[in-house]
Amino acid sequence: MAKVIYNEGNLKKCQCPKCPVEMRSACVEDKLEEVENKLLINDLPLPEEPPELYCAKGRALCSDLSFQKPCVCPTCPVWQKDKLHSRYYCFNGNAEENS
Ligand code: SF4
Ligand code: SF4
Repeated sequence: MAKVIYNEGNLKKCQCPKCPVEMRSACVEDKLEEVENKLLINDLPLPEEPPELYCAKGRALCSDLSFQKPCVCPTCPVWQKDKLHSRYYCFNGNAEENS
C-alpha cells in the first residue's frame, strides 16, 4: 500500500491547486492564501489546513469542489515518485486507502 508523507516538499509539488476540480472553489482560494502566508514565514501548515496533498491526508474539507471535472494527479511528481495508481483522493480518501 502506498503511504504518502505530509511534508513541505510534497506540498510544493502537489498539483491540486491547478486542478479543475478545485479551480472554482472559494473555500480552496481562501485556504490557499492562508497556506501561502504560512509557508512564506517557514511555518508548515497543519495537515488539515491546505486544500491539497489529499493522497497523504485524505478527503477534502471544502464542500464546493467540482468532482465531475478531471483529476490531474497523474501529472504530479508526487504521484509519479510514489508510484500511485489512483485519482480523486480529495473524494475517495488517501493513497493508503486507494492505491
Ligand atoms: S498525487 Fe494528487 S493529491 Fe497527491 S500530491 Fe499529487 S496532485 Fe496532490
Ligand atoms: S486529488 Fe485529484 S481531483 Fe482532487 S484536487 Fe487533487 S488533483 Fe484534483
